[in-house]
Amino acid sequence: MNKARLYLVENPYCFSGVRHGYEDSWFSVIGVPFDNTTSFRPGSRFGPASIRLFSAEAEMLSLEDCIDLEKIPISDMGDVAVTFSVEEVLKRVETVCREVREDSKIPVLLGGEHTITLGAARALRPELLVCFDAHFDYRDEYPQGVKTSHATVMRRISEDLCRVVHVGVRATCREEVEYAHGRDFITSRSILRNFSEASSTLRSLVEKAGSIYISIDLDVLDPAYAPGVGNPEACGISTSILLDLLEHSVTDRLVGMDLVELNPVLDYGGSSAAAAVRILFQAIAKSARRKGLV
Ligand code: MN
Ligand code: MN
Repeated sequence: MNKARLYLVENPYCFSGVRHGYEDSWFSVIGVPFDNTTSFRPGSRFGPASIRLFSAEAEMLSLEDCIDLEKIPISDMGDVAVTFSVEEVLKRVETVCREVREDSKIPVLLGGEHTITLGAARALRPELLVCFDAHFDYRDEYPQGVKTSHATVMRRISEDLCRVVHVGVRATCREEVEYAHGRDFITSRSILRNFSEASSTLRSLVEKAGSIYISIDLDVLDPAYAPGVGNPEACGISTSILLDLLEHSVTDRLVGMDLVELNPVLDYGGSSAAAAVRILFQAIAKSARRKGLV
């Protein structure tokens, strides 16, 4: 990693509280404290710091599958130095992700707002992007005249880069429903009504794809589980159901992941940060196992 280091600033806390060097790591965590296009309630720029803080206090052994996250080498590269320009931030995210991938590591991005996924997708070019989100983010412009924002990010990715499957979606508008017609999506209500059908639909899409990127917008969870998000939407899934769905989307072909839209300013008590940490720990542990590393 050479050029990308110019775009990174060190953070006093490190993800999981266990420091591993970059060279020997399998996963590399990168914060992107950017929320400039947020339309409703800003504050996700503080997401990476909150995730790091809570992750340092969380237990690291998974009782269910006996994977000890402490044994998995995860490096924390600090945060991308953000600017006011969304295109410049995306360029920096892209540069960092490309170099991490060239070094044969899996980038794990901590948002920040959802727009940052565009930078990662440009660098990693997955065949399929699995997007856990209450929203499609399929608007063509939002607000009017703005092509690149948290509400258009999946439109840009599906137009230019790769296939997208939405999981847990429930809040939308006519323009997005028309664009989503004929594309892949699984609503939160269909997951809650028939989990096995929804999960087998997801698994069959993932099985066909040569490379997978997982993007988790924390508002996919019901506000009962994650109140600390900018745009909460009722009738979401639980943290436990999300972990079960991750079982069907984490494969040995995972090339990157992110968790975005945690807003610590609205996360009184920290339940959303705690959920975000458990989701990331589980996704990283499962990925390491599927790749045969643990
Ligand atoms: Mn989103
Ligand atoms: Mn959302």
